[in-house]
Amino acid sequence: MKPLRTAWYTKASQCCSTVGGFVLAETFPESHSIPLSDGNQIPLLGLGTYGDPRKTPKGTTVECVKLAIDVGYRHFDGALVYFNEHEVGQAISEKIADGTVRREDIFYCGKLWNTFHPPELVRPALERTLQTLKMDYVDLYIVELPMAFKPGEEFYPRDENGKYIYHRTDLCATWEALEACKDAGLVKSLGVSNFNRRQLELLLKKPGLKHKPVSNQIECHPYFTQPKLLEYCRQNDIVVVGYCPLGSSRDASWYATVNLTCPPLLEDELLVSIGKKYNKSSAQVALRFNVQRGVVVIPKSYNPERIKHNFQIFDFSLTEEEMKAIEALNKNIRFVELLMLSRLGFVSKPAERDFTIWMSRVPMCREAGGRRLLPGHEEK
Ligand code: NAP
Repeated sequence: MKPLRTAWYTKASQCCSTVGGFVLAETFPESHSIPLSDGNQIPLLGLGTYGDPRKTPKGTTVECVKLAIDVGYRHFDGALVYFNEHEVGQAISEKIADGTVRREDIFYCGKLWNTFHPPELVRPALERTLQTLKMDYVDLYIVELPMAFKPGEEFYPRDENGKYIYHRTDLCATWEALEACKDAGLVKSLGVSNFNRRQLELLLKKPGLKHKPVSNQIECHPYFTQPKLLEYCRQNDIVVVGYCPLGSSRDASWYATVNLTCPPLLEDELLVSIGKKYNKSSAQVALRFNVQRGVVVIPKSYNPERIKHNFQIFDFSLTEEEMKAIEALNKNIRFVELLMLSRLGFVSKPAERDFTIWMSRVPMCREAGGRRLLPGHEEK
């Protein structure tokens, strides 16, 4: 197979050439992967596996993941808190057993949930994911949110008034426990999710940092292009993984509130018209846009045709003008405004959306002196 040339951000020492501000690098052609800063690789396209457990029939995830492997997907994004991790694991085991893939061909990303941030709970949480998946290791394990809930079996602990019960924690201590998991061979790479620049800096500047976060999973699509956070991540060798790359399921009943005031991404006229030029859909153009600028995408689909369709993004490329025009669609609007934060008034304000500043107000780390960072009082 001919190596795919994909524009993605990398260090000058690794690059092949520069075109229009994008640094071009070769991907690993068989898996469409790009390198991570720790020497591992991540496939640019993965299957998101979150489906509302109340609406998704049992076995759906097994069938979809198996189909996706047949189609060519090698990267799966999951979480203990999606309540279907056992189905993802079952599908992968079955495809290994029937000889379609080997374990080392698969890239699985799991997530440390909010109730497991205290250092002594980190390894048991990862081991629980491994047992659920029936795997010896995960390829990437990420801190799902830079905030903690009260530890315990209740994933969404609430008080008698229905308010979430938060927990004072130290992101740096949580990270050290994750580093020990990597050293023990339970995970190949460590990353984060929903971290803003300040929270990334906390980890990067942590005294004695042993393993850098290799990736940051954040909402990222043409209506929320995240230019500043992308630039910061690029400067620090952190690969950005874009969730909701198709503009989310727009399912308002999810734990997160979906911002329905924003028009559906896939109906965007520019994406549709660019798609017509290449005989592609707006969804394929939206995915290609991110992939072409080095952002990993993890579109979710439980529809067999759409699973196949979303994989067909490696046989065309967008021109520099088209990339710029799509970048200009940015509205700095996120589709997913996590209810657990918005209840506390942490919903993004227009001027702040780009940096996910609302997350930084959650009190967490040593450097913040254990103090609550109130709106307008963030540490500079
Ligand atoms: P998404 O991938 O942007 O959109 C999924 C929705 O698009 C589903 O309703 C799906 O329906 C539909 N769809 C899929 N392909 C399509 C196509 N070609 N044309 C039209 N519609 C299409 O949103 P997401 O599921 O919220 O995000 C993707 C993944 O990111 C999740 O599954 C999860 O793994 C991860 N995630 C992580 C976080 C985090 O905090 N770290 C937050 C949110 C999501 P069908 O299933 O019917 O095809």
